[in-house]
Amino acid sequence: MFFLYFNAPNDLICFTNQIYLLLVLETGDVNYASVSDEEWKKKLTAEEFYITRQKGTERAFTGYDLFNVLEYWNTKTPGTYHCICCNTPLFESSTKFDSGTGWPSYYQPIGNNVKSKLDLSIIFMPRQEVLCAACDAHLGHVFDDGPPPTGKRYCINSASLKLKPK
Ligand SMILES: [Zn+2]
Repeated sequence: MFFLYFNAPNDLICFTNQIYLLLVLETGDVNYASVSDEEWKKKLTAEEFYITRQKGTERAFTGYDLFNVLEYWNTKTPGTYHCICCNTPLFESSTKFDSGTGWPSYYQPIGNNVKSKLDLSIIFMPRQEVLCAACDAHLGHVFDDGPPPTGKRYCINSASLKLKPK
């Protein structure tokens, strides 16, 4: 705030705003509903923003950012998959399975860290959308054709995840 009173150059104000955003996002001390699209755009790549904040869907096995899209669909590294937006742990690698779909798939989320809601965006094809419970990031969809023990298949966009290896 000091800088604002002294007519600092725009660059400096912009810089301090970014530091502030980084701090609040990293410490978790933030009401995510109040984070604007402009602020998310500063933290995320264009593709991450499109997927998580605008409910985009990766094309299976491909996409305009190949590295980002392909990143996790075939990954077997042990670790925890966190929300790319707010860092909440969402899935353990031990619940990941090969669904043959091209999207990373899990049979169980961590605790209540993901939520689902009815998605009617495709006509005649109601689906359950999966979102980060903390920040409402769109993650993917959940289906009832998964393996035991849950029978669920959480079909997740890899651009919405960040793997922290064990
Ligand atoms: Zn999140």
